[in-house]
Amino acid sequence: MSEFSLIYRHFANATNRHTSTVIGIGDDCAVSQIPANHQLVSCVDTLVAGRHFPIDSTPYAIGYKSVAVNLSDLASMGASPFAILLALSLPKSLACDEFVGSFAQGMADICTKFGVELIGGDSTQSDVLTITITALGTCQKQPIRRNGAMVGDMICVSGEIGSASLALKQCLAGQKSPWRHHLDYPMPQVALGQKLVGFANSMIDVSDGLGQDLQHILNASGVGAKLYLDKIPCMDALRQLDNDDKWQHMLNGGDDYQLCLTISPQNFEAFTKQYGRIIHPVGQIIAQQDLQLYHDGHLVDFAIHGWVHFDD
Ligand code: ADP
Ligand code: MG
Repeated sequence: MSEFSLIYRHFANATNRHTSTVIGIGDDCAVSQIPANHQLVSCVDTLVAGRHFPIDSTPYAIGYKSVAVNLSDLASMGASPFAILLALSLPKSLACDEFVGSFAQGMADICTKFGVELIGGDSTQSDVLTITITALGTCQKQPIRRNGAMVGDMICVSGEIGSASLALKQCLAGQKSPWRHHLDYPMPQVALGQKLVGFANSMIDVSDGLGQDLQHILNASGVGAKLYLDKIPCMDALRQLDNDDKWQHMLNGGDDYQLCLTISPQNFEAFTKQYGRIIHPVGQIIAQQDLQLYHDGHLVDFAIHGWVHFDD
């Protein structure tokens, strides 16, 4: 069977049609109809085997996560996703129904969850499995940017931080991790991102570590922050670790895909009144342009480096 028919068979009808799709897979380009008064929001992310996911990840999990990380980028702007495009570079050894079939299934399952359609892509052979996904979304009001943090804003996160990092550490040590699903199946905070439009002043998704990702907001906004480490939500298994270990996972570990945002105290009140306590205060924006870490009311010294992509 030719590689093309293999790809076509698994991807052509992998996902449900989205109402915006005029032309989907099968022609030279896909064509989408953007609703009136909406802006197109787009992003692209590449995942390389062994670098962005452990090489023992299942094909299903690889497909799932490749989409999840892109939807998370759209979530961090408050956009509503509608389609993805997939560029797949596949080693010859993986050009088989077994791999492509479950990869496509993982991808399709998360797409279905978020009402997203795979509308096109490209396929090539290469030595290393590489997946590049472009995600498309729309935004009706102003998207939430990194550069809008204001002095006095509360810093909030959308959920537990550090779980994926703990799981990765255990996997790399050859242990079976009970938290592996945090690493393989991150849940992009799409609905929450959209709710925060009109409330939050700045936002980012936590992909490279809370320390580094918050620093991106601070740099873009020209402000600083006090971060209260004991306020950061985390699972019990992390809470029980020594502080240095715990902070390493929470601040420098990647792959959480929670949202980190800043919001005025007035808007925080209004937001929680409307939606409940679904965002968790962990700090405060200050004028002095540095990131101050506090634990139990005391300033602590801890080096933030985040996930390093080019380390050689
Ligand atoms: P072209 O040579 O014009 O780039 P291709 O043969 O690469 O066309 O692709 C034919 C059709 O199949 C296109 O509509 C393209 O979007 C789709 N396609 C190819 N590879 C993939 C893929 N990995 N996932 C989804 N659609 C794909
Ligand atoms: Mg092509």
